[in-house]
Amino acid sequence: MSRRPGALVALVASVCLAACSGPAQNAADTGASSAAPDPDSGVIVIDNARVFDGARDLGEVSLVIRDGLIERIAEAGANDLPEGAERIDHRDLFVIPGLVNDHAHVGNTRGTAHGDRFYTQDQVSADLRQFQAYGITTVASLGMNGSAFGEIRAAINADPMLGAQLYGAGGGVGTPDGAPPAANMGLSDDPVARPADAEGARAAVRAQAESGVDLIKLWVDDLGGKSPQMTPEVYKAAIEEAHRHDLLVAAHIHDLAPAADLVASGVDIIAHGIRDQAIGAPLVDAMKAAGTGYIATLQIDEANYIYAEQPDWLDTPFLRNALPASVRAQWSDASWRERKLADPATQTHRDALAVNLANLSTLREAGVRIGFGTDAGALPHRVPGFAEHRELELMVDQAGFSPAQALVVATSAAAQLLRFDDRGLLQPGKRADFVVLSADPLADIRNTRSIEAVWQAGRKVAGPIADYDAQARD
Ligand SMILES: [Zn+2]
Repeated sequence: MSRRPGALVALVASVCLAACSGPAQNAADTGASSAAPDPDSGVIVIDNARVFDGARDLGEVSLVIRDGLIERIAEAGANDLPEGAERIDHRDLFVIPGLVNDHAHVGNTRGTAHGDRFYTQDQVSADLRQFQAYGITTVASLGMNGSAFGEIRAAINADPMLGAQLYGAGGGVGTPDGAPPAANMGLSDDPVARPADAEGARAAVRAQAESGVDLIKLWVDDLGGKSPQMTPEVYKAAIEEAHRHDLLVAAHIHDLAPAADLVASGVDIIAHGIRDQAIGAPLVDAMKAAGTGYIATLQIDEANYIYAEQPDWLDTPFLRNALPASVRAQWSDASWRERKLADPATQTHRDALAVNLANLSTLREAGVRIGFGTDAGALPHRVPGFAEHRELELMVDQAGFSPAQALVVATSAAAQLLRFDDRGLLQPGKRADFVVLSADPLADIRNTRSIEAVWQAGRKVAGPIADYDAQARD
């Protein structure tokens, strides 16, 4: 999803629709016979903020924002800032780029229920408002999007108040009677293409490319030996066809073997961590050589059991406010918790998380490209917004990332993984998508939760986080 010239023009136009209406309108109304409009009208300067720009700590600086973009980053106290600008003093506050989620889902859940029947613009927007309130300003929805995906994406991306920017894979490409399992995922009007052979795979990818998807999603998983797995014939053809259309391919996997063959077949992104065994040197080397991206989604397994364990942070407002009332009630139900913890799958998920963490450490040390994702929104316990902050915490506490390294992954690296060159960094010419924090995220990664405000396309769109509540999602 490189930002081609056409896309950039559309972006600037949509930013101006949202942010630049006032002054031009007034000039027209008054016949423009009076003084020329103030060239700095609508310009905002955020003064004295401590900025981590997505690559490094800039210290205390002033951000100049014009027409939805960062125009300039000036030394704090600079005396040549735009005179007519609105000034906002952010002394003692911290600014990071809006987070980019490379692997999430939208419009798949409502309260404790899930399924494709929830794929409406209202529900997608409610999910994206929640991501946004939690500081995630770009979301890639990796498959299971309904047929209205393109229309909904256009509406959402034209108005920052409707939620985080949405990109994604349309329905995606899965396996007949296999992953993603239609019954478990509640797919009644199944949006997933399920080709049986190479010719079908090419046709499915072509149709999705023509419908305007941003990338192609494949599911290559035998679901613990319980389902047929997409054959190499099918995924090789799908990858080839996607690349013919200049589309990235992200593959859902669980195990090492399909991951290794997908990398050898030219897949661009491994969209979940490898969770059956240690990743060995051959695959690490192959990923480095090919520049393959890797999204661990540590949260995906942990979310299956951690809330039933009632960790002491279960009742923190930061998590509680992200939950629809029905989910809160479920998690407080002792019999639900007992059933969950007694389920043999719980131990499987614990083991999977341990392997996932170890493999992520190996890949970090080796310098493989790492992106950021959580699978939030696919099921009700994968909580949009909260999942991303928990993912950062797991990366730092259990996979050896420094807070700065984790922030790079969740901002600039996550943007680059999807070929975005207009976001993920707070630099001149990039989108003014950022999060204002009251505590230093470089001192403690959990401080990414201290959200005072979220800005998208140069507008304050949410915050503080204490004011958010998830009722719109119940
Ligand atoms: Zn997913």
